[in-house]
Amino acid sequence: MDNIRAEAVIDLDAVRHNVQVLLAAARRTNPAAALMAVVKADGYGHGAVPVARAAREAGATALGVATPGEAVALIEAGIVSTPEQPIVAWLWVPDEDIRPALTAGVQLAISSRAHLDAVLQAARSQVAVHLKIDTGLGRGGATPADFAELTRLAARAEQDGRVRVVGLMSHLACADEPDDQSVPEQIARFDRAAAEAGAAGLTPAWRHLANTPGTLAWPGATYDLVRCGIGVYGISPFDVPVPGLVPAMTLRARVALTKRVPAGQGVSYGLRYRTTAETTLALVPVGYADGIPRTAAGAQVFLAGSRRPIAGRIAMDQFVVDCGDDQVAPGDEVLIFGTGERGEPTAADWAGADATIGYEIVTRIGPRIPRRYVGRSAAE
Ligand SMILES: *Cc1c(COP(=O)(O)O)cnc(C)c1O
Repeated sequence: MDNIRAEAVIDLDAVRHNVQVLLAAARRTNPAAALMAVVKADGYGHGAVPVARAAREAGATALGVATPGEAVALIEAGIVSTPEQPIVAWLWVPDEDIRPALTAGVQLAISSRAHLDAVLQAARSQVAVHLKIDTGLGRGGATPADFAELTRLAARAEQDGRVRVVGLMSHLACADEPDDQSVPEQIARFDRAAAEAGAAGLTPAWRHLANTPGTLAWPGATYDLVRCGIGVYGISPFDVPVPGLVPAMTLRARVALTKRVPAGQGVSYGLRYRTTAETTLALVPVGYADGIPRTAAGAQVFLAGSRRPIAGRIAMDQFVVDCGDDQVAPGDEVLIFGTGERGEPTAADWAGADATIGYEIVTRIGPRIPRRYVGRSAAE
């Protein structure tokens, strides 16, 4: 076996497969629907650049990120943003320097008059933008009350040839909860906003509302474009798995040390764990600095042929596994999470052990863990 300490193996074939699954789901409602692969936060920890490339190969029209800086980083890595295949960024402070993003062809979302003014100030030629309305999430976007003025100002700027409103977007609050009443309410508000934009003379080609759970569970939220993040990485946004999605990240490490200890041995800070019999302890050299949640009580890893609980506290750089009388040696593989195919836990299992969501488990895997890409075009 290879001689690594730990690594995250990213399966780009899984990414491509998941993009196709999500695109097919969107096209069941609208055969012309397009997909935006959301690669913010370094591709949810998977690596934004390789994921962006793989997603585009699989048919993703657009790429989405939170910040203009993330968009510029993609472009500097050779991923293009064109009017037909844009990179869209939606989270920025009105006085930050957006010129590099605009110059590079990034399409920004406009949540307020201040954001529109900032674009008009910074743009040297006509730029494509997306208007963002808050249809109920209470986070980004203009309130329905402010949206009328925003569309009026944007329409005037478009008539002056300074912007082109190519998108209208909003974000769902509860698409992961089956039958939640807020979703149809948000869809209705989004329809009203689209009608208002149309009445103001705007013709955004891309109306987009759905995230991954919206795409999978709410056909009425499909519109022209779906913005999928977590599903691209093969993780379910729901409490239950989504058939057909394949987790793209496998986090693995190798045992650094084993030791035979007697009954009553305390393990790790606070000595919260004590061995109940003579046993073999295995030291796994990854910890909370690598993104392993310290608070994941009861989390398990797959080691020497079975799933085993973590013994005692997870430390900054390491944790311990109690292996009983099983044969385990330094260098043995430890699967922390993956697809589950080999018996290992999934990111969803870790999320369950840490009272969080799969999104957080993969996204916080830190820079000390090298990413290794596998799949058809991983070598590119
Ligand atoms: C992160 C994000 C998404 C992607 O959501 P998923 O649930 O990961 O699919 C879509 N839209 C916006 C505005 C986001 O911030």
